Amino acid sequence: MEYKYTGIILNKRDVGETDRIYTIYTLEGGKIRSLAKGIRKPEAKLASSLENITLADITIVRTKGLGKITGSIIENSFPNLKNDCDALLEVFSSIGVFDKLVDLESADDRIFNLLKEYFEVADICARKNLREKHQLLRLGFMAKFMFELGYAVGVDSCAACGSVLSRGSLGFSSKHGGVLCEKCACGGKFLAIPISVNAVKIMRLFLRSKMSSLYKIQALQKDLASVRIAIEDFSRWNM
Ligand SMILES: [Zn+2]
Repeated sequence: MEYKYTGIILNKRDVGETDRIYTIYTLEGGKIRSLAKGIRKPEAKLASSLENITLADITIVRTKGLGKITGSIIENSFPNLKNDCDALLEVFSSIGVFDKLVDLESADDRIFNLLKEYFEVADICARKNLREKHQLLRLGFMAKFMFELGYAVGVDSCAACGSVLSRGSLGFSSKHGGVLCEKCACGGKFLAIPISVNAVKIMRLFLRSKMSSLYKIQALQKDLASVRIAIEDFSRWNM
């Protein structure tokens, strides 16, 4: 049976003499794995359209198991992103977490579109040489991705007691699922990472803005560092 997918290549692994297994996040079937036979032979034509971080229309023939990739037509190869080391480092780091957190064969068009938009905006920032934006984009993507998975980071009220977050010494607790007020963060009752008020504002903007406009957020390096510590801790906690 032949299946057509619109998918984004996440990673690939060499198997056997000349074959590869690809992990692809597809619109129609969520994360799938499939085999490309003979793809590492010099004359293999498919390889160039199955590079990591490529959006393509992919044909897979399958009766059971992994099936076989028989065709791939590139829709977007994100060429600027692929030529930018800063962008690639951040995107590969995102893909590592993404691959761990999404289950096989669980389709979700919101997550597919979010991933696609992330690569599109990272490609634009790479073309414009906005090197400082790639970490911001990764953290924004992670916050939005976790939200879509059902792990929304709590940024509007204290994640422990529910009170309004006023200025002061705020904390972050992955165990509680978000930001803690000064009383909960500093009372010694809970283990919390200190987080700046501006970092909390940036995380709110992540959740309220479209992926395609996240690059417009202006953030100081120290606040972004605070966001990074919180978001990375939060995604590790939910892995
Ligand atoms: Zn509290």
